[in-house]
Amino acid sequence: MRFRFLGTSTSVGVPVIGCDCPTCVSSDPRDDRSRSSGYLEGPFGKILIDAGPDLRQQALREKLSKVDAVLYTHSHLDHVMGFDELRAFCWRRKSPLPLHGSPETLKALATMFPWAFTKEKISPGYVHPSAQPFDGPFKIKNLLITPIEVCHGNVRTHGFRFDHPGAKSLVYISDVKTIPSDSLDLIKGSDILIIDALREKSHSTHMSVAEALESVETLKVPRAYLTHISHELDCATLSATLPNSISIAYDGLSLDL
Ligand SMILES: [Zn+2]
Ligand SMILES: [Zn+2]
Ligand SMILES: [Zn+2]
Repeated sequence: MRFRFLGTSTSVGVPVIGCDCPTCVSSDPRDDRSRSSGYLEGPFGKILIDAGPDLRQQALREKLSKVDAVLYTHSHLDHVMGFDELRAFCWRRKSPLPLHGSPETLKALATMFPWAFTKEKISPGYVHPSAQPFDGPFKIKNLLITPIEVCHGNVRTHGFRFDHPGAKSLVYISDVKTIPSDSLDLIKGSDILIIDALREKSHSTHMSVAEALESVETLKVPRAYLTHISHELDCATLSATLPNSISIAYDGLSLDL
């Protein structure tokens, strides 16, 4: 099983348009961040986590030619605006593309992109989705996917835990402020945690670096990666302050599981 960070930035991207702060003008390629998204591959197929506004460039950069399913964390625009880029993946499929999300997320997608969810015949060039609402753990072949409900402002949002025989278990939570206790139980015992760490200062809907580190400590996860990063953090400065078991993620980083 292999996980790739397609994007690791917060909603506005890094660099920010028109900003000349040290991170935005940094020559470190790790400070060039597209909107948060992930790609998980294994014997079960190729799974895209969120389809944000940078999906096209991410897919070209990582040479992705296939998506067998999309998992949605929530319907904020930085996670769904690449919907139309799913067309290129749909053209190479014989069946509709399964989109897994909470009932609310899938309803929001159908409202935003009604032409793809109509009951009438869809034009062959469009995205052909197959909405798959989840209400608890589900499987794609031998991959067990456990949605983890978390608090992220007023939008019900999910992270995901991935368990596959013979592979390390991975938890991905890109947008979170607090994790309810039932959800903490779902994360315990996992090997790798990918978690939201927007910036140093506190924020109303995202974890700060301190809050993310505290979660990793509480959960006793042996390895963690910080994602959904804003331009207020630069990779080199933050990396120097992190414990060995915690790294700041960057676009293109690949984890062999
Ligand atoms: Zn986001
Ligand atoms: Zn900046
Ligand atoms: Zn969000």
